[in-house]
Amino acid sequence: APSTSLVVVSNRIPLSFAMEQGKLTATPSSGGLVSALEPLLKEHGGVWIGSAGTQDSPEIRAQLKEATCGHHYHYEPLFLSEEEQAKYYEGFSNEVLWPLFHDLQTHCVFKPIYWDFYRRVNQKFAEAVLHVTREEDIVWVQDYQLLQVATSIRAQRPRSRIAFFLHIPFPPPDIFEKLPWRREILQGLLDYDFIGLQTERDQRNLVACLRTFIPEIKLDGRGDHRKVVSARGVTLIQVMPISIDFHELASVAASEAVSSRAAEIRCESPGLCIALGIDRLDYTKGIPERLRAFRALLRDQPEFRRKITLIQVVVPSRENIPRYQELHSEVEKLVSSVNGELAEPGWTPIQYMHRSVSHEELLALYKAAHIALVTPLKDGMNLVAKEYCAAHVEDDGVLILSEFAGAAPELKTGAILVNPYDEVGVANALKQAIEMPVKEQRRRMLRLRHQIQSADIHHWRDLFFASLKRVE
Ligand code: UDP
Repeated sequence: APSTSLVVVSNRIPLSFAMEQGKLTATPSSGGLVSALEPLLKEHGGVWIGSAGTQDSPEIRAQLKEATCGHHYHYEPLFLSEEEQAKYYEGFSNEVLWPLFHDLQTHCVFKPIYWDFYRRVNQKFAEAVLHVTREEDIVWVQDYQLLQVATSIRAQRPRSRIAFFLHIPFPPPDIFEKLPWRREILQGLLDYDFIGLQTERDQRNLVACLRTFIPEIKLDGRGDHRKVVSARGVTLIQVMPISIDFHELASVAASEAVSSRAAEIRCESPGLCIALGIDRLDYTKGIPERLRAFRALLRDQPEFRRKITLIQVVVPSRENIPRYQELHSEVEKLVSSVNGELAEPGWTPIQYMHRSVSHEELLALYKAAHIALVTPLKDGMNLVAKEYCAAHVEDDGVLILSEFAGAAPELKTGAILVNPYDEVGVANALKQAIEMPVKEQRRRMLRLRHQIQSADIHHWRDLFFASLKRVE
């Protein structure tokens, strides 16, 4: 019998293409999802299906082949038209589901045409799955752009094993009910055999929504796994927080190259406490709120001026969406007004970068930072928080973490938890972090590192395969 292979389906294959000096180049993408899944496919073998983010050409095909050359998996690209990209991805995914699922329904643009395209493109993904896989393969669909993929696969392969993982939060019924297509979305989810969620809160919310809007289902099981029995069959809903490759990150962080770069970064701000923020440019990350809290600390407690500097890296994201363009200018205005108000010769309060940084530079920044300031208004998980701790191989450093990050339940005993909307609270947390004795830093960081190491990305993968067994 042919062995089963793993089929990962996500909005994008993890490569982006660009023309450089007349030559097409492929760059591996960044982001939480990629850091988690690439190692899994390398190990397990199979196929990654996703949009190529570009138009079809022989050069693209050649690059795709080359990218996985020597491995047991390959990329299967989909090519979306500009209109599909605009209405399925930017429209329904990022102007409807993204804000709604992050509790920001006032940011939603509920255009019916977005929904039409969302369904149509999800069907296109399902057709690609049907085309390149066999019924015995394990299909694992990723994230909010593809909630409806199982429905079209199911129609042809009722016995296929189809799993889903939601990387972003699931909202409570009071917010979810604003969605005009709420029943269709939930019905689509019940076509999966398995749904993985980041936190118990997300699981509680999804179960509550199912209960409210599809009252005919039956619920079973408790704790971190629940079973839903619907007319279609059984769906297991399990909590499995995503994580990082702890050992890989820790070993790169301990390398000579990263250590000396981290020392250099510290030398460039001599004697200063370095606080670090690293985020995609997204309104869920709470960047303006964080900058205002930092300003409040410096305004209200002048003794901290010339004592601390904030390095804020903002990675460009979703630049075609108006909300994101507005946020970009809001952040830049705020940075320049804080620096304009408070900078002194030889001291810049906020060192701001609007670009992505290399893996090594990222780890050096983590390592150099005395404090990580991770304050999303709402976040599925937040891998930056976990990566910061993994990079602190000398068990020092302080993590300030939003209560509303998916990572909070796991990291609450080691981090300083804050409400990102509470400017005074965040400023106080910064003060506490600056003044924290080394002994307490070590006690907390050891706890954090121990927790992240024992629930790393391998553990996440094991949970997934163990749950699949339970499904069978
Ligand atoms: N990251 C990156 N390049 C950068 C900055 C960050 O690849 O210049 C990575 C970072 O290492 C982390 C991911 O981007 O793995 C961000 O994941 P997170 O869960 O924090 O947020 P997301 O962007 O997925 O919402």
